[in-house]
Amino acid sequence: METPPAGPDQYTMRDPSTMYADRVPDEQYLPGPGTDAEMAQNVPADHGEDSYRGSGRLRDRKALVTGGDSGIGAAVAIAFAREGADVVISYLPEEEEDAERILGLVRDAGRTGVGVAGDLSDPEFAKQLVDRAVAELGGLDILVNNAGKQQHVDDVTDISDEEFDQTFKTNVYATFWLTKAAVPHLPPGSTIINSTSIQAYAPSPHLVHYAATKATVNNLAKGLAAQLAPKGIRVNAVAPGPIWTPLQPAGGQPPEALPSAGEQTYLGRWGQPAELAPAYVFLASGESSYVVGETLHVDGGMPTP
Ligand code: NAD
Ligand code: MG
Repeated sequence: METPPAGPDQYTMRDPSTMYADRVPDEQYLPGPGTDAEMAQNVPADHGEDSYRGSGRLRDRKALVTGGDSGIGAAVAIAFAREGADVVISYLPEEEEDAERILGLVRDAGRTGVGVAGDLSDPEFAKQLVDRAVAELGGLDILVNNAGKQQHVDDVTDISDEEFDQTFKTNVYATFWLTKAAVPHLPPGSTIINSTSIQAYAPSPHLVHYAATKATVNNLAKGLAAQLAPKGIRVNAVAPGPIWTPLQPAGGQPPEALPSAGEQTYLGRWGQPAELAPAYVFLASGESSYVVGETLHVDGGMPTP
């Protein structure tokens, strides 16, 4: 499917109510974690490949972005690199193709781009990932806890203990393990950003276990912000609304909900990963020096606290 470029860049004034109007997903299901490579055959997502323009806002910073192979994490990795940061991304082994594409774009920006495959629901991998990032980048000053698992289940009696456990391990425990491993390496001026969700505030009935993890990750950002501020480390969160990423057709929503999932927003459409990246850049950069424990909502307009 041909879609017009979103560009020429993120600074250009555009009508947000008509942007991406042609990127309406159809009913589909992707097995496993889902990939952007598969989505691109149908309705591709925009990660800012042709539009994100950097302006030195993260010059020589050292970033670890989990789940940086696709979706929001991929847009963040591209933006960070174009803003001057070296970037390590993590991903699952079945996402190699997506990861290689994004690492290519990071390197095209003239920055170091390193991929590390592994399962973040395993505490050993989470710790090794931080050590590897520190070794590859010669230190670490940005941690983006972005990897996440979302599977819709209509009835609480159908949520298996394994599904509940795996969702908490991936979304909550990994955030804890990564943060715990990273903090000793983070110099003053470093930033941690957690990907939370509108679900943290407005849980959907078919996503209760996922929504509970996002409320926890959001709360962790606020508690850790207070704890780590005296060390000069700022912790914040980004709360996306419905964003067109592989997680959604890969069981995040029922296939029949995909065409209309963005309609409940004020803008009446899905968001694209490229529209999330500037929020992460802002929170990572020194320009947000007095923004601490904040949740930045990027959701097309929805009632939030
Ligand atoms: P995505 O599928 O592109 O990214 C999620 C990534 O998580 C995957 O690429 C994968 O690499 C990683 N991941 C999942 N399970 C993992 C595991 N066990 N070990 C290691 N990595 C694992 O989808 P996305 O929507 O860009 O998701 C990024 C974050 O944004 C998630 O935390 C998600 O909950 C959050 N979010 C997404 C939306 C949305 O509408 N897409 C809305 C709110 C919040
Ligand atoms: Mg992926």
